[in-house]
Amino acid sequence: MSLSQADRKLIENSIRDIKDFPKEGIVFKDITTLLNNKVAYQTLMNHLEDRYKSYNLDYVAGIDSRGFIFGAALADRLGIGFVPVRKKGKLPATTVCEKYELEYGYDEVEIHLDAFPKKNPRVLLIDDLLATGGTANAASKLIKHVNADLVEVCFLLNLTFLNGAKKVKEHAPIYSILEI
Ligand code: AMP
Repeated sequence: MSLSQADRKLIENSIRDIKDFPKEGIVFKDITTLLNNKVAYQTLMNHLEDRYKSYNLDYVAGIDSRGFIFGAALADRLGIGFVPVRKKGKLPATTVCEKYELEYGYDEVEIHLDAFPKKNPRVLLIDDLLATGGTANAASKLIKHVNADLVEVCFLLNLTFLNGAKKVKEHAPIYSILEI
């Protein structure tokens, strides 16, 4: 079911802009004010549950770290498992790793090689925000690398002017709740 205009506004208005964080020129979308607003948070989670309950998913994978919050809550609502895609050096068992370019330098994300115990699982990937798409693109590659079927990539917010969707939709369809 699609989100009503009023519910979309409620979610949008609960996210605050912090100028010049973490550095000058960046407008940081702060979702802590969504999470501490029980009406906005529940409206969002109700919508995600409603959308994905018919997708026949086996796992929700979330991107470090804000993707964990929504991803783990959604997995629990759907009665399925949650898998973290983490920044390099945080996962204890054998991992596969994917490097991606940042404005200055590189970053890396990784996933456990045995992250999905079920064979050929149907997986939803989720993060709070799509900017240049580097992170979600790398996470998508990892999920496919461990032989999962990436069904969709979901974002709360898509900063469309950065064109990140171009990279990510090569892997799977994208669903973003809010577009800026
Ligand atoms: P990117 O790889 O450029 O698509 O960046 C996406 C990742 O960086 C996500 O995990 C976001 O949480 C974070 N991020 C990037 N830009 C912002 C922003 N303006 N506000 C909040 N988070 C951001």
